[in-house]
Amino acid sequence: MRKILEEILEIVFPKRCLICSSSGNYLCTDCFSLIEIATHYYCPFCEKPSPFGKTCSSCQRNHYLDGLIFAADYNQAILKRVIHSFKYPPYLVELKNSLSLLIISHLKLSNNKFFENFSDFIFVPVPSHYSRVKKRGFDHTKELTETLASVLKAKYCLDLVIKKKKTMPQAKLSRKERQNNLLGAFEINKAINFSVKNKNFLIIDDVFTTGATMNEIAKILKQNGANKVWGLCVAREFKINHSK
Ligand SMILES: [Zn+2]
Ligand SMILES: [Zn+2]
Repeated sequence: MRKILEEILEIVFPKRCLICSSSGNYLCTDCFSLIEIATHYYCPFCEKPSPFGKTCSSCQRNHYLDGLIFAADYNQAILKRVIHSFKYPPYLVELKNSLSLLIISHLKLSNNKFFENFSDFIFVPVPSHYSRVKKRGFDHTKELTETLASVLKAKYCLDLVIKKKKTMPQAKLSRKERQNNLLGAFEINKAINFSVKNKNFLIIDDVFTTGATMNEIAKILKQNGANKVWGLCVAREFKINHSK
């Protein structure tokens, strides 16, 4: 039934590329190829070049996240448009495939030896508050996590970390406000029988800005005995302009 409905919808409202309006897909292959894939690695916090995106030794002193993999610099109009149409109206859940493909392309292009296989890591999405999931109709980071984990043949746990407090969008806040905003926002889900102890995690998100959210989740995982905690996101926002 669902398939038939989808086919009718496709005839009445054919999918069009968000960027060039060509029919067939929400992001056509031509427009996808215009997104520049990242091939350099930086420390997630101070942005200094760092092997495989590992948190540098000086930032390690006051952070919990061990490193970050990102597919592209967020400062690209097409990428912003795609991520926006995924998270906000018209909430195009199918864009998870294009966004996952950006990450896969990055892994292939950058030849990241550190993550040649993901079997040592459990993928965990950055959780959203249920009210936002309800509004969106789907949980965007869970959708990304499932898609990526299936392509990369990795283990994942969608409900390991839960968001118990509704927070303000981090992007709208000052540095100080961001820290207060996240205080007590996340916790390990006790309702599921899953031991975090000595396991390695990869936290999945769409956009990485200051890293405060991922760092807070890494802190909670490590307080519960996790070993390594890395981040993996589609786009990264930089403070410094790294383009040549
Ligand atoms: Zn296009
Ligand atoms: Zn650093």
